[in-house]
Amino acid sequence: MTNPLLISQGALPDFAAIRPEHIAPAMNQLIAEAKSALETVTAADFPAEWAAISRCLDVATERLGVAWGAVGHLNSVADTPELRQAYNEALAQITAFWTELGASEALFGKVDAIDTERLNAEQQRARELALRDFVLSGARLEGEAKARYAAIQERQAELSQLFGEHALDATDAFKWVIPAERAAGLPADVLEGSAAEAQAAGQTGHLLTLKMPCYLPVMQFADDRGVRETLYKAYVTRASDQAEGEGAAERDNGPIMEEILALREEEAQLLGFANYAELSLATKMAKDPAQVNALLEDLARRAKPHALQDVAALRAFAKAHLGLEDPQPWDWTYIGEKLKEARYAFSEQEVKMYFQAPKVLAGLFKLVEKLFNVYITQDEASVWHPSVSFYRIVRPLPDGQSETIGQFYLDPEARQGKRGGAWMNDVRGRWMRPDTADLQTPVAHMVCNFAKASTDKPALLTHDDVITLFHEFGHALHHMLTRVNEHDIAGISGVEWDAVELPSQFMENFCWDWGVLQDISAHIETGEPLPRALFDKMVAARHFQSGMQMMRQVEFSLFDMRLHQQTGASVMQTLQSVRDEVAVLPSPSYSRTPHTFSHIFAGGYAAGYYSYKWAEVLSADAFGAFEEKGLSTGDVVDAETGAKFMREILEVGSSRDAMDSFKAFRGREPNIDALLRHSGLVDADNSIEPA
Ligand code: ZN
Repeated sequence: MTNPLLISQGALPDFAAIRPEHIAPAMNQLIAEAKSALETVTAADFPAEWAAISRCLDVATERLGVAWGAVGHLNSVADTPELRQAYNEALAQITAFWTELGASEALFGKVDAIDTERLNAEQQRARELALRDFVLSGARLEGEAKARYAAIQERQAELSQLFGEHALDATDAFKWVIPAERAAGLPADVLEGSAAEAQAAGQTGHLLTLKMPCYLPVMQFADDRGVRETLYKAYVTRASDQAEGEGAAERDNGPIMEEILALREEEAQLLGFANYAELSLATKMAKDPAQVNALLEDLARRAKPHALQDVAALRAFAKAHLGLEDPQPWDWTYIGEKLKEARYAFSEQEVKMYFQAPKVLAGLFKLVEKLFNVYITQDEASVWHPSVSFYRIVRPLPDGQSETIGQFYLDPEARQGKRGGAWMNDVRGRWMRPDTADLQTPVAHMVCNFAKASTDKPALLTHDDVITLFHEFGHALHHMLTRVNEHDIAGISGVEWDAVELPSQFMENFCWDWGVLQDISAHIETGEPLPRALFDKMVAARHFQSGMQMMRQVEFSLFDMRLHQQTGASVMQTLQSVRDEVAVLPSPSYSRTPHTFSHIFAGGYAAGYYSYKWAEVLSADAFGAFEEKGLSTGDVVDAETGAKFMREILEVGSSRDAMDSFKAFRGREPNIDALLRHSGLVDADNSIEPA
């Protein structure tokens, strides 16, 4: 019996044949092979040569990576108790191996000793990035410094875990039952859910919690001001010294944040950086903290007048229509919802009727074919569910022939056992294989969670679904259209974290283009494309309060940057000084929002939260090149600009710095004008309206 996870070279995983019992034997064998390869290439007598190391070690680790990728994929999209158990049993062993590989001093020494004269440009770049990552993991430290570095890592992992647990436990700890008459205004599903929860707890009324599906609709819709105030206060004091209730004192994240910040600073200094922000940016597109701060401050300066107008509109509306003379922090979301309803009422349901999944997909393919001169055709492969399809991307060649550049799986529908959300993942990367000298073409997973098609009707997508599909396809194109032959720097591999969302967010822009929308929409009954009046309302709703939203994101990002640039920074003082500069709404003195800011204290976003805005600036500015072209041609779907975008950004992977790629495409460094325009944050007289 053959094990389908022992994938032969050049083949794709036989997804339909993989069973939980295949996992342990295959992983044991592949890890053993990879370990033995690591031992071989790090032996004293093994030559310090790129090709020799790659032929032995990379071939073994890539085979392991592809097989484990297939297991992880099934765990995400076709989970069963047996599969989950087999996955979890293998996980520790796999993680341990990758950690061992990344920390191997012997391998670091071998790669460091390679004579670069004999490497091509791609190999030199791949080697440079590999060495950089070794160094940032402490490979050059010695003696006491090395031991201290390891201790810092361990303690940071503990503290992050603790921070996350406190935030979670503090959220879960709050439960408050209100009588039915105080629940007025809440949507039917929230009323139903909270009544059921109260009943389960042996009480009558509605049980409110701080979890998002309850907290958010209460802040948006609960007519009872006191209910909103109580929930708001509980929410913004979670895991802090201001929190109330049993056990609150043990969940205070204040001391944990201080220790995390001190350790990060020490880590940065051990590695030779002035502060943690500099260390964080060493692997990112932004060159230094000053550049990030300048961008954020620029955004704040330009968005602030609009944010103040947003607030003024809320105040006026609250006074005239809601009888609220002096709105408090727990009122703004509520007022915003009421104003939005009054201004832009249209239903998601109505919009959905125009987006039939097959039509949207066909329109997306047509767009991509025109932009990048490729063809997408249906292909055959072993899949894990009958609703999954497989496609091939082909490029026509001048001699009339064509070449396959990549393939992808599309798993569009939500179902039992499938993780929520949407994502792109690689099945394998483009690679000029050192073992066979064959060119391996890239293969991608596209996973979404759209509604199911029925037997006689196609699935209908919301506009958000359409945006999600385009977003993930942007990632997939980045992965598949690459022309780089070294797999560590091909496609999305090695791309700076703050640049990796450029192609995905770039593709989203087309979902707001009138011409493209005509191509991807057709009413389920009449076949008519999306009407202009409905489109105009969608655009207006998109821009609603975008000034305030921009200021909020800038506040989080600036706070994160400043916190990681100072020595012994005080969390609350830093927040206060940032708020003094950019906040347009007052915050009560008891508010402790940093205490649950898990992105930067429990996730990987420390001195990196700005990446969201950074990538938006890049993608909007890149799309601006298409809009400028569209001004003269009347069509943003421009093949010439598309070819340039493909050549300078999509094809190059991380073979050069993302900033160099951006400049090669745009002819200059990125600027914020296009993002402000797309967000509706421009004065009427200097906006350019794309056709
Ligand atoms: Zn993304």
